[in-house]
Amino acid sequence: MTERLDGTVALVTGASSGIGEATARMLAANGATVAVVARRKERLDKLAADITSAGGQALVIEADITDRALAEAAVARTVKDLGRLDTVVNNAGVMLLGPIEGAPVEEWERMVALNVLGLLYVAHAALPYLLEAAESEPRRVADLVNISSTAGRFARSGAGVYNLTKYGVNGFTESLRQEVTKRHVRVSVVEPGATSTELAFQNRPEVLQQMAPRFGQMERMEAGDIAEAITFIVTRPRRVAVNEMLVRPTEQEL
Ligand code: NDP
Repeated sequence: MTERLDGTVALVTGASSGIGEATARMLAANGATVAVVARRKERLDKLAADITSAGGQALVIEADITDRALAEAAVARTVKDLGRLDTVVNNAGVMLLGPIEGAPVEEWERMVALNVLGLLYVAHAALPYLLEAAESEPRRVADLVNISSTAGRFARSGAGVYNLTKYGVNGFTESLRQEVTKRHVRVSVVEPGATSTELAFQNRPEVLQQMAPRFGQMERMEAGDIAEAITFIVTRPRRVAVNEMLVRPTEQEL
């Protein structure tokens, strides 16, 4: 049975577009006060205004979470301004594809900095508050949801470093899950397949061309489809932990 999130506080990274934005809207609609974190402040302001006019509550935090101090400050500000932290959706990520041979190493650095280190900074800073929330009303359970990818389950030629970051997210999630689950912090991983967002458009034009045959005609999922999966996980009763969710477009084979 779905439980409401009234009286709880959620933090969503990468909330200025795509899956993070849709998730912030959905968590707010389910009663959570949502701290929305990303670099594009004007997008976050618009999102917060939408959430407020729909009857919800949102706090805008402009932060580049690849900067450890800023990631930690985003978590600290959430707790200072909103009083607690029950749910973290570690969603911010970047996918820069292409062959390893001759790749611009700066692209690898961007992916590792955000998909791995940014996610770790937020998880580490949030964990004490999640453990505290798990002991208190209204839910006596807390959630850390890490957004991985089908690329965290299946490696493909041309996705090497993105695979590395998302396999890493899966391994970290399962290890941390074992560490804290007895204290009622549920640590979950969501692995979306192709979803219609801005994600792919940061790739070089030649890489976009290489990707076209694989995804060209496919009916992709929408960001809201993944937001629903995340919302399902964090609205389970205290006794139920959905550890892992792989969600693909129906037409996606691998
Ligand atoms: P988007 O590009 O729409 O969203 C990425 C988000 O990350 C944006 O809000 C962006 O905001 C934020 N972000 C980027 N860099 C930083 C940073 N340094 N600090 C803080 N926030 C940052 O893509 P999606 O919604 O598709 O991606 C969300 C997650 O889903 C990613 O982890 C991605 O790997 C994963 N995923 C997506 C799939 C897809 O097909 N779309 C499939 C599988 C997984 P800003 O630029 O304002 O900082």
